[in-house]
Amino acid sequence: MKNFLASATTALFTAGVFIAISLVALVVCPFFHESGHALACYAQGYSVIHFSPFGFHPRTDCTENNTWVSAAAGTAASVTMWFVITAILNHWLLLRYRGNLAWLSLFSAVWFAWSYIFLGEVLNWAWLVHSTRNPPPDTARFATVTHIRPQWIIGGAWTLAAIVVASAARLVWKIIWAFFAFLPSSQLQNAESN
Ligand SMILES: [Zn+2]
Repeated sequence: MKNFLASATTALFTAGVFIAISLVALVVCPFFHESGHALACYAQGYSVIHFSPFGFHPRTDCTENNTWVSAAAGTAASVTMWFVITAILNHWLLLRYRGNLAWLSLFSAVWFAWSYIFLGEVLNWAWLVHSTRNPPPDTARFATVTHIRPQWIIGGAWTLAAIVVASAARLVWKIIWAFFAFLPSSQLQNAESN
C-alpha cells in the first residue's frame, strides 16, 4: 500500500510538472510575446487585425507590421517579463516557499522550462536573422526595416543571452541549495545543530 501510494504520488507529481511545462510553452510564453506585438501596434496608432497568442503557431497581425518597433516588441515583452518574474522569484517567492517541497518543485520546474524557452527566443534573433521564411521571423523583419547589419543583431542576441544566463545563475544556485536542504543528511545535520 505504501509502495502504491509512493508511486501514485510520483506519477501525479510527474504529470503536474509536465502540465506546468506545457502550460508555460503553449500559453504563458506566446501570450507575453504576442501581447508585446499587439501593444506596440496600438502604441504606434495602428490596429490589430489578428491576435492568436496561444498554441503552436501564435500570431499577431497589425495593419502595419513593417516597423522596427513592431518587430522587436514581442521579444522586448518576453525580456521584460522574464527579468521582472525572475526578480520576484529571487527576492520573494523563494524565501517564502523554500520550506515547502511541492511549491518549490512546481515553481522551479516552471521557471526552468520558461527560462529554457525564453533563451531559445533570444537566440532565435541570432539563428533566424538570415531566414527567408514567409512570414519572416521577427529578427529578419527587424534587419530588413532597420538595415542594421545581421552581424550586429547576432552579436546583440548573444550578448543578451549571456546577460540572461548570468542573471539566472544566482537563482539556479539558490534553488539547488533549497533542494539540498530536503536531503535526509542535511535534515539530520539541522537536527543536530538545533
Ligand atoms: Zn514575434
